[in-house]
Amino acid sequence: ASYARIKETDESIKAFLTLNEDGARTEARELDNRLQQGGEKGLLFGLPAGIKDNIVTEGLLTTCASQFLSNYNPIYSATSARKLKDADAVTIGKLNMDEFAMGGSNENSSYYPTRNPWNTDYVPGGSSGGSAASVAAGQVYFSLGSDTGGSIRQPAAYCGIVGLKPTYGLVSRFGLVAFASSLDQIGPLTKNVEDSAYVLQAIAGYDASDSTSANIDIPDYTAALTGDVKGLRIGVPKEYLGAGIDPRVKEAVMNALKVYESLGATWEEVSLPHTDYAIATYYLLASSEASSNLARFDGVRYGVRADNPDNLIDLYRKSRSQGFGPEVKRRIMLGTYALSSGYYDAYYLKAQKVRTLIKGDFDNIFKQYDLIIGPTAPTPAFRIGEQVGDPLTMYLNDICTIPVSLAGIPAISVPCGTADGLPIGLQIIGKAFDESTVLRAAHAFE
Ligand code: GLN
Repeated sequence: ASYARIKETDESIKAFLTLNEDGARTEARELDNRLQQGGEKGLLFGLPAGIKDNIVTEGLLTTCASQFLSNYNPIYSATSARKLKDADAVTIGKLNMDEFAMGGSNENSSYYPTRNPWNTDYVPGGSSGGSAASVAAGQVYFSLGSDTGGSIRQPAAYCGIVGLKPTYGLVSRFGLVAFASSLDQIGPLTKNVEDSAYVLQAIAGYDASDSTSANIDIPDYTAALTGDVKGLRIGVPKEYLGAGIDPRVKEAVMNALKVYESLGATWEEVSLPHTDYAIATYYLLASSEASSNLARFDGVRYGVRADNPDNLIDLYRKSRSQGFGPEVKRRIMLGTYALSSGYYDAYYLKAQKVRTLIKGDFDNIFKQYDLIIGPTAPTPAFRIGEQVGDPLTMYLNDICTIPVSLAGIPAISVPCGTADGLPIGLQIIGKAFDESTVLRAAHAFE
């Protein structure tokens, strides 16, 4: 059914880069055999899953939507992909994205842009745009995405589905092709909050292969879905509802807050005073980390090697010039500059200090409130092509998601309305490792 749906819809949506049709049929047959023999069912038994193409999958092409990795066939699977398999999910294929997860519209894919299933003239968001569009179009039951500055939450909002960025360290990054290692986090994109809890349950947990993996007990996330939010204290940052926020988005958020009031929760306006610095801080830090992480793509170890180099340096230069797209090059240059001697203190180190202040803003609010609620993105999806010539405007789309990433805390986007037929997302932000409260509040609203 999943492949039939893909055949029917993916010519216009273009969510997939690689299909795993033979592999998936074999996996499904094995599950069926096991069931016939009286075997147990895993948590995600038989569910068709899509995986973002920066999560490595053994024997299944993993391109990061880059020409550089157009021939990269991994010899191992990411921990998250392996855990999906351990839970008996079936891998349908690999999903389109912005190249190396750099972008917010899927237009930076070096293959083709994915389109928004609600209206194919519009972007699905990004960078996990394929992951969001595929779930919204009913091609897969759920997908995995990655979120560095909003890349799960924003496409979920644009495509009218649920996207959860877990606390940094909750889900192993082993086998996630690194963009910005101190920010990257894998999470589920699903049709509803209950599914999100199930998928999180399957992929969360300590992994000795990821040095930043948190060694904590994993709660029962579905048990948190009680429907009860009485007495929850919600802070609503005035910075997330001010200038630059589409009035229709603001109205949808205010309506959601009324729902919470009616369910017995309370809310008050709060302030996250360093929000103005978040975008600059993020783009310095994320680009710095990216410039270091992407140094491994040299034409020798991974992916495509340029033809006819004059010497070794020329091999690096040609492979990188041909392999990376314009946005990736822009970030590598920005990051290399910020890390250069003489500039390190002024940019990278300064950005690290501001990051601490931004995290402090959240710590302060969470002394008095259980959750923070605002929009996921300032506007609904925009038209394909509308912002491509203007990277700075594109960067501003992340104003509500980036501070959360810098603080390393969990947040979910759930649908909260539409404007001109395009979905709007509500962002619910929680304390570190308190995914249970985030999911409970999202579920009660849904
Ligand atoms: N849009 C942001 C960027 O371009 C976030 C990307 C992400 O979370 N991977 O960096």
